[in-house]
Amino acid sequence: MGTSLNNKLFLFSIDLEDVRFLLPDGKKFKERVPYNTEVYLKWLDKNKFKCTFFTVGDIAEHYPALIKEIVAEGHEIACHTYRHIPLDKQTKAEFKADLEKNINALYKAGAKKIEGFRAPIFSLTEKTQWAYAVLADLNIAYSSSVFPAKNPLYGWETFGNKIRKVNEKIIEIPMTIGRVGPLHIPYGGGVYFRMLPEFVIKSKIKNHSAADNPLLGYFHPYDIDTEQERFMHPGINESKLYNYLMYYNRSGVFEKLDRIIEAGFTVDTYSNYIHNYLVL
Ligand SMILES: [Zn+2]
Repeated sequence: MGTSLNNKLFLFSIDLEDVRFLLPDGKKFKERVPYNTEVYLKWLDKNKFKCTFFTVGDIAEHYPALIKEIVAEGHEIACHTYRHIPLDKQTKAEFKADLEKNINALYKAGAKKIEGFRAPIFSLTEKTQWAYAVLADLNIAYSSSVFPAKNPLYGWETFGNKIRKVNEKIIEIPMTIGRVGPLHIPYGGGVYFRMLPEFVIKSKIKNHSAADNPLLGYFHPYDIDTEQERFMHPGINESKLYNYLMYYNRSGVFEKLDRIIEAGFTVDTYSNYIHNYLVL
């Protein structure tokens, strides 16, 4: 099991969602998603990289031109549910209906071939693994939805780090977790990536390049947004500390990303990874 061609693969990805849509009065805040997405697209284009955009259905309905642009530039569009509700807050039937709506909205906006899925907030756990049967029913090929460590929100500690088939159709590509002090954290993405000092990221990357798995990373439009208004973000249990971290060091993201690229990593889509690199 592992990568056959290149173990310096960075599965950088964007979870394309608008946090405003998850707040009751969120639309009073400024629209930032199209602008921030363009900034990511420019960085990808500059490096000649293609990546995967795990896209919420309502985003596709609000910004079809943005989806068309992402597709036209050769990136992959994958599912991130229609309404960004964690899996444990839905029944299996509700999840299936939501995911069908997500898939339809993405195709309608211009997505070409939908093969991938990421659960909101990595909410695919031991308790919600019924979701894999739904993914198989809807012809999804892979999922990248598991946080294989303890976590205050969601986590599936016993899943392990290995990429593997979870049923006849679905391959799970769990988030890359590394040990930093006493913590096990996904150092390649989101709030953790922003918080960690550059020397820690560098050392984790150095250790990672010897491993046989791709490095996974997930980013959101807000992760790079230095001009977003201050408000309490959804899905963090109203924690003031966590909300502070939601805004922490957004200006440093691209510099750190460039360090990863300088360390010899290339970026590709999850779909290309499962078809061209992955040997199970
Ligand atoms: Zn999300």
